[in-house]
Amino acid sequence: MAFGEFDLIDSYFKHRQRQRSDVVLGIGDDGAVLRCPERSELVVVTDTMVAGVHFDQHMPARAIGHKIVAVNLSDLAAMGAEPAWISLALTLPQLDHDWLGSFAQGLRDICDYYGCQLIGGDTTQGPLTITVTAHGWVPQGSAIRRDGAKPGDWLFVSGTLGDAGLALAAQQKQVKITDEHYVRACDRLFMPAPRVALGQSLRAIASSAIDISDGLLADLQHILNASQVGARLSLQELPLSLAMTESVDQQQAIALALSSGDDYELCFTVPESRRGVLDTLLARDASKPTCIGRITSEPGKVKLELDGEPWQFSQAAGYQHFATDSGDEQQP
Ligand SMILES: [Mg+2]
Repeated sequence: MAFGEFDLIDSYFKHRQRQRSDVVLGIGDDGAVLRCPERSELVVVTDTMVAGVHFDQHMPARAIGHKIVAVNLSDLAAMGAEPAWISLALTLPQLDHDWLGSFAQGLRDICDYYGCQLIGGDTTQGPLTITVTAHGWVPQGSAIRRDGAKPGDWLFVSGTLGDAGLALAAQQKQVKITDEHYVRACDRLFMPAPRVALGQSLRAIASSAIDISDGLLADLQHILNASQVGARLSLQELPLSLAMTESVDQQQAIALALSSGDDYELCFTVPESRRGVLDTLLARDASKPTCIGRITSEPGKVKLELDGEPWQFSQAAGYQHFATDSGDEQQP
């Protein structure tokens, strides 16, 4: 069945969303026409979510609509960009109007919240797959990249780490967790909040940044490789939620914080000379970034320390457990 005779994007999105003044022509023609601000650079990101790979039957349609936008805005945030427009490619197994209505609601709500507009897309029939491309702006030359970290820079992360992984572990009955903590953790897994405001504030402060989608260690490694530096992490500083500390022991909490994905927090580096500016910024920022370590000169090397003692993954039964049973299931 072709969906062509019934333009889903048009009917579910066109007239129900907030309009931006820089969209000359939005949904409904062969292409969108967009006005570009002067002295800015366009940042473009794309992310795909596939049923059975990135989400399962536990995930409500509204959350899927939210999350596919959130993961893209998180990439824009990591670049320091201000979100502007998104386009959507939607592959559906069948026409399910209830599902589509909830999905569209989730997608529209997050777009409205962050002031970005859906400017077009395409729908086809096939296994449930959702791709969003997001476009954002930075002032010329101010995008935050992965390759700017220098030895001596301080290493920060926003928010708390590992909560989405905790939700997955709880879903798979690997940890016992109270209902209240489970709801909180699932909220982090289903409805992540991209650090859009923080990312823009970091443009003049951070020497490098990345968003944590695949787990802190995996994503930090991208910064280290691109910047040709290493890092030393103080694991007792890892920011953990109450849901985490009250549900698992310290070894498991560290393992989840280091290696489970889907957190969508920002990991970034700050030169000593700009640490004062950052502290001033942090006083006002809701995501409360925490300093968890320092950049070193050994390319690609990560040293993990807990209260000053070396910490090995192999020492952590918790990590082994999560790695074999659940660690890879949500990863692309
Ligand atoms: Mg990313």
